Amino acid sequence: MRCGATHAPEAQVYVCPCHGQDGILDVEYDYSAIGAHHHRDGLGEALGMWRYRPLLPLCSDTPVAPLHVGGTPLLDADRLAAELALYRLQIKDEGVQPTGSLKDRASAMAVAKAREVGAKVVCTASTGNAAAALAGLCASDGMPCVIFVPEAAPPAKVAQMLAYGATVLLVEGSYDQAFDLCLQAADHFGWYNRNTAFNPYMAEGKKTVSLEICEQRGWKAPDVLMVSVGDGCILAGVHKGLRDLLALGWIDKMPRLIGVQATGSNYLAEAWRDGQDVRDKKPIRAKTVADSLSVGLPRDRLKAMRAIEQTAGAFVQVDDPAILQAIPTLARLTGVFAEPAGAAVVAGLKVAIGQGLVTADDDIVLINTGNGLKDIDSAQRSVALVGDRAHRVAANLPAVEALDLA
Ligand SMILES: *Cc1c(COP(=O)(O)O)cnc(C)c1O
Repeated sequence: MRCGATHAPEAQVYVCPCHGQDGILDVEYDYSAIGAHHHRDGLGEALGMWRYRPLLPLCSDTPVAPLHVGGTPLLDADRLAAELALYRLQIKDEGVQPTGSLKDRASAMAVAKAREVGAKVVCTASTGNAAAALAGLCASDGMPCVIFVPEAAPPAKVAQMLAYGATVLLVEGSYDQAFDLCLQAADHFGWYNRNTAFNPYMAEGKKTVSLEICEQRGWKAPDVLMVSVGDGCILAGVHKGLRDLLALGWIDKMPRLIGVQATGSNYLAEAWRDGQDVRDKKPIRAKTVADSLSVGLPRDRLKAMRAIEQTAGAFVQVDDPAILQAIPTLARLTGVFAEPAGAAVVAGLKVAIGQGLVTADDDIVLINTGNGLKDIDSAQRSVALVGDRAHRVAANLPAVEALDLA
């Protein structure tokens, strides 16, 4: 992504040797070869992310972990659409993935690639979900893993990793520090590294979400696709999936991509607004209730900016109260219970409408990236914020009558 050098897959490099950590790679395919052998109507019966295997960077005999990843529902959000005076709105619900977030798509890819190269241990740094996903996929596969998370990671996510049997290191510092420590440790101990963006195959796993969205819509791409952004790898993956489909002629237009960032973790949104070059923009201090978006230096910043620029898209910012309020809004109007980073996209949609970035007749898809049970503390704060609490009641009918509910 820096110098345009190309490397064969056999070289087994994570990043371009000329540019080190900044030399993020982008996987390229021979679309005419794929198109000659595969058709969008012949992807087979198997559901889940591996039905797109012709478009994924795996050898044909590489085994994948048994845990079922992908095949998540695309829901019509008619009441939320009506509330926002929109024509058509759908939600891709990644909260129902086996470990509760979209990260399962990347982690499933990581475990398969690790098997392919004969790795003994896989490691990753994570704000929480990537690690929970890796722990789950490794448990499914019987592969040991070592996790580096910031000590402030939500307890539910840490408990999940430990339940799966991962070795968990709570790093006394930020996600960015955990990321750098994981790079050093992987290098030192020879572990297979799943780190977001550093490992070029993670965006390839994540792209299966946009392949699915398009197939679920009968290969009709939406006008607008919105997703929340931390490192920018999901956004990059979503863009990559759409570029693949466009190159193959399986869809006929590129949607506008809108990335939603928290105001307290707005590296990319700020760069976008102010026209800053992300190749030399300094890290920021990140702090937001949406822990999954809390990133001081987005590792996939080049691809994330490219995704917005090449699709006539935009970044929007949402503050923490708006993110928290969006949790009950989304839950009540659609039945989808999201963690803060997932609900942020609903708050972002309101901002995008306000800024004229989307209009009433756009056909819009939102991605909910994570399950609400991932962060109960934030869920509790969100309902308190909108003034709702449970009624304490004595165990008899008159006590219920006295509440005057009807
Ligand atoms: C990781 C994550 C994001 C952000 O993805 P990036 O690739 O870091 O931009 C958003 N929401 C949830 C729930 C996540 O786990």
